Amino acid sequence: MRGLNKMGINFIHPQFEVVRNQDRCIKCRVCERQCANEVHFYDEDSKLMLSDETNCVNCHRCVALCPTKALKIVESDHTFKPHANWTGEHIENIFRQADSGGVLLASMGNPKEYPIYFDKMLINASQVTNPSIDPLREPMETKVSLGKKTVEIKRDSNGKIIPNTPPQIKLNVPIMFSAMSYGSISYNAHESLARAASELGTMYNTGEGGLHEDFYKYGKNTIVQVASGRFGVHKDYLNTGSAIEIKMGQGAKPGIGGHLPGEKIGPDISKTRMIPEGSDAISPAPHHDIYSIEDLRQLVLSLKEATNYEKPVIVKIAAVHNVAAIASGVARSGADIIAIDGFRGGTGAAPTRIRDNVGIPIELALASVDSRLRNEGIRNNVSLVVGGSIRSSADVVKAIALGADCVYIATSALMALGCHLCRNCHSGKCNWGIATQRPDLVKRLNPDIGYKRVVNLVTAWEHEIKEMMGGMGINSIEALKGNRLMLRGVGLNEKELEILGIKHAGE
Ligand code: SF4
Ligand code: SF4
Repeated sequence: MRGLNKMGINFIHPQFEVVRNQDRCIKCRVCERQCANEVHFYDEDSKLMLSDETNCVNCHRCVALCPTKALKIVESDHTFKPHANWTGEHIENIFRQADSGGVLLASMGNPKEYPIYFDKMLINASQVTNPSIDPLREPMETKVSLGKKTVEIKRDSNGKIIPNTPPQIKLNVPIMFSAMSYGSISYNAHESLARAASELGTMYNTGEGGLHEDFYKYGKNTIVQVASGRFGVHKDYLNTGSAIEIKMGQGAKPGIGGHLPGEKIGPDISKTRMIPEGSDAISPAPHHDIYSIEDLRQLVLSLKEATNYEKPVIVKIAAVHNVAAIASGVARSGADIIAIDGFRGGTGAAPTRIRDNVGIPIELALASVDSRLRNEGIRNNVSLVVGGSIRSSADVVKAIALGADCVYIATSALMALGCHLCRNCHSGKCNWGIATQRPDLVKRLNPDIGYKRVVNLVTAWEHEIKEMMGGMGINSIEALKGNRLMLRGVGLNEKELEILGIKHAGE
């Protein structure tokens, strides 16, 4: 029976309350039809719309679509007897596990109150000397090129330069869309990202689920991923993308693999992933052929060989404790680009305890990797791309000043598509048509509108990046890259400032 556990009592009180203004409600039942979680229903006896809040995830679909604005969702003020150690969250999670015997699952990024270093760094601006630049009147270069940089110019016997630039990813903006597989997100979400990348002159990323044949036409703007499960990986797939990403780790769940349940493997996803319909898609935690940097080098070189040495290879790692040493090894593996994913990075599904307790903040990881590669004289061997909760253009500017060549965004791009961060992707019932494969829900996301909203978001950020760069008196991303003098810390201790390689405000 709904709402009851095996003991016949549901210990979990709903987290949210649906507040319905009955004077405004016209009983159109839109909320009932729109809610995949079956929260709203019409009660024949009272002739009123009522709510079963047990299943409400606060996705705001009903709130946004209610024609009379009769609805709001508020957090329940139901409480346990206050306890500084045994918080309500701990108590309820114990109830849940005592009921199910299972691992707690969650999605999207780590919501815990760890320090957000982007919010503890401030950006510089020119005043009297080194004047600021007006981006409306003077050129501002936001193009970036990712890959190994040529260190020496070679000439033939006639003195003509021999082109020897290693393969590059060329972008109009220093922002790409990070990996989200077809399976974890819907066909329409993938199409929106692919079209947005194509219009913006940037890249989107297949994630580990292969590439749907309809999207081969966006290959020029596609990064194809090779993950531990090798789903959907074949020669045409590798050759269609402009770059290949080997996923070694993911910020939201470092050290563990992935699992897409069989019920999500419909005909289309089965074909794209090259696995039987209805079978679970399990990505092992490690690549079973990689146990050393030498093994990684083998895979990097195999992928380059398979693509005629024309595609840059990215190695994606999670930001973990010894990330600088790991990145140093990866930079020597032959990889052209290292992508580092911070512990706030999103995911379609992760064990809650892993998401909330494993990994480190991207800001510290980035600063330490950039410093280490510079100190070892190998920074030009690789480009650095960072992701894991880039929330605004200011985060982009700060990441680049800390040493990144470019950023990956995913959660922000999904929000542009309508995601309201309810963090319920793992249920497969995304009311916004994004993290779902249910046909009735998928069609709620119109790619014609979706891609424009993503383009708008990145265009707006690009304007803001130019303004911030102009304010600093800097006219190119290249001049901002690793320019830590443009940052000052606020409220950070000596160790944090040392790792970030920045001074405190006032210095
Ligand atoms: S969508 Fe709004 S007006 Fe329509 S039934 Fe629900 S609460 Fe009432
Ligand atoms: S993608 Fe959908 S299910 Fe996931 S957090 Fe966003 S709105 Fe919720």
